[in-house]
Amino acid sequence: MEGSELSRAIFLDRDGVIIEDTGHPGDAEEIHLLPGVTESLTKLRDSGYLLLVVSNQAGIAKGLFGQEVLGQIEREIVSLMGFDLDGWYYCPHHPEGQIEELKRYCDCRKPKPGMLLQAIEEHHIDPAKSFMFGNMWHDVLAANRAGVKAVLVDSTPEKALADPCKEIATAWATAHGIAEATAAVLSSP
Ligand SMILES: [Mg+2]
Ligand SMILES: [Zn+2]
Repeated sequence: MEGSELSRAIFLDRDGVIIEDTGHPGDAEEIHLLPGVTESLTKLRDSGYLLLVVSNQAGIAKGLFGQEVLGQIEREIVSLMGFDLDGWYYCPHHPEGQIEELKRYCDCRKPKPGMLLQAIEEHHIDPAKSFMFGNMWHDVLAANRAGVKAVLVDSTPEKALADPCKEIATAWATAHGIAEATAAVLSSP
């Protein structure tokens, strides 16, 4: 496929970018969109970007909540925003999980780039024209490894500071929220 036919995408971390990172990601009752999410994603969509969630959900491997909760939270987000996104990718694995079939080192848990690479293939995306928004340095590193520019959304600065991926990851920009991240993307050449 020619480069000109490839799509551009925004890869979105879920917790800490779209919804509050509460530390209780299994609670579908307690979903709050972060400020500016609906407006920002509308602008990006209208500018031709695919919108794809790529989210680590190790709580599933740890037995804290079931796979069905991911769908419940998706439906809640879609209902709050008023429109759906183009794809939702999750890593349910963790090497120290309790659920035997999910307890492993995988290629999809960020900072590994597996979810991004899968989405790039499935949606025919040009990574060099695409961006990742994440609140953790492991999001930035996953984007670096997939050839996607990364914006660190600084919604949880203490957690981000404690992320060892900070030492080797390179952010294209830092933003205080999704609106600022969106403005940076839309004003880039
Ligand atoms: Mg996050
Ligand atoms: Zn995984």
